[in-house]
Amino acid sequence: MTLRLYNTLTRRKEEFSPIDPANVRMYVCGPTVYDYAHIGNARPVIVFDVLFRLLRHLYGPEHVTYVRNITDVDDKINARAKEEGVSIRELTERTAKQFHADIAALGVLTPTHEPRATEFIGPMIEMIEILIAKGNAYVADGHVLFDVTSTKDYGQLSKRSLDEMVAGARVDVAPYKRGDMDFVLWKPSDAETPGWDSPWGCGRPGWHIECSAMSWKHLGEVFDIHAGGIDLVFPHHENEVAQTRCAFGHKVMANIWMHNGFLQVEGQKMSKSLGNFVTINELLEARKFGSNMWHGKVLRLAMLLTHYRQPIDWTVDRLVETRSLLADWIASAKNQGDPNRVPSKLVEALSDDLNTPSAISILHGLGKSARSEPSVENFDALGSALKFLGLWESEKSDKIMGYGVESGTDQVDPVLVDSLVASRLEARKAKDWKESDRIRDELATMGIAIRDNKDGTTTWEVKL
Ligand SMILES: [Zn+2]
Repeated sequence: MTLRLYNTLTRRKEEFSPIDPANVRMYVCGPTVYDYAHIGNARPVIVFDVLFRLLRHLYGPEHVTYVRNITDVDDKINARAKEEGVSIRELTERTAKQFHADIAALGVLTPTHEPRATEFIGPMIEMIEILIAKGNAYVADGHVLFDVTSTKDYGQLSKRSLDEMVAGARVDVAPYKRGDMDFVLWKPSDAETPGWDSPWGCGRPGWHIECSAMSWKHLGEVFDIHAGGIDLVFPHHENEVAQTRCAFGHKVMANIWMHNGFLQVEGQKMSKSLGNFVTINELLEARKFGSNMWHGKVLRLAMLLTHYRQPIDWTVDRLVETRSLLADWIASAKNQGDPNRVPSKLVEALSDDLNTPSAISILHGLGKSARSEPSVENFDALGSALKFLGLWESEKSDKIMGYGVESGTDQVDPVLVDSLVASRLEARKAKDWKESDRIRDELATMGIAIRDNKDGTTTWEVKL
């Protein structure tokens, strides 16, 4: 079977041909650990997990190396630690642990390696020394900067000229920079910021060199696939490309560059100031967003309904629909299925640049067959497809719907609450205030708080 992937580097779909089929190598930029991961961060985690599963199927699980890093040295981390009055280590450990707990619920496989930037300071210094020796970087005022005019191919990935970049960027006009677009490889640290000894004094790396060094050490000077969110194309990936290519002298850093599209929430860009900022954790724990408890596999399927390169609109309606869809399929599979018996048409769909919408229409067909012609074969085909896509491990369909789970707030039955909220809305429409109050009190005794919105809807949440 031919795998075709869209390559940001060439702006077209290409046939994938690994450098070494016995070791297919992929790097995905991971989180900077200073805060809860938001739902936009979940997209590359889920999308490239599907690719990891597909590559494992095509080349054999032992022939795929997947690296997803953790950025645990960054100025955002330093600032947050100071704000909270905790040590940097405390903050990064806690956040990394939370990240792992959150994404575990999304049904993702563990990458082969998960390097932390702080463990690769040595290779970063080594690369910076090579770049200085080759004339691609210079030391100025305790900093080391990459000279973007030293390589004629700067802009190879984002397809922008230097002039366009300068015009479009909020350029940091530091006096020690030779050119506006030159970027930091190393910067000095004071007593308050974490620092490491280097030939340029005590300092810390810039963000871009971290990924260049970690991918080099785990995957080599050139590897097969480098991926991340589309917001990383410039400057992060462009700068990674410049550093790695100039240090090692190859035409490319990775043969295929893949980028997932943006995620917005209820039609708007997600931002803290708009109040529509949603973390994975809030969705899993019923603290926000329709105030239902969303099972991790529902979030996963909701993400895969849209092709990874398209923008995605994350809405409560999408999650409600996805939940009943997934619960139906799981109930229809009757506990059959093995992820190693994945139907070939599903592999075919995914091999066309991870066409998950097409994979999902195949699931629809398999679900229909399992219901209209109940047979072990049909149950098995549906169950195997669900398991291969990471949408089902051992959950029961009622768990997906939100009941049957133990502990804490999970004891709330969202379907019952929804129906009580609907009855109360009816009562209010009929101006039956007594009944409306009675239902509100009944909900309160269940530990549910409700809020009537200006647009006539009512939302509810579990009181913590
Ligand atoms: Zn990166």
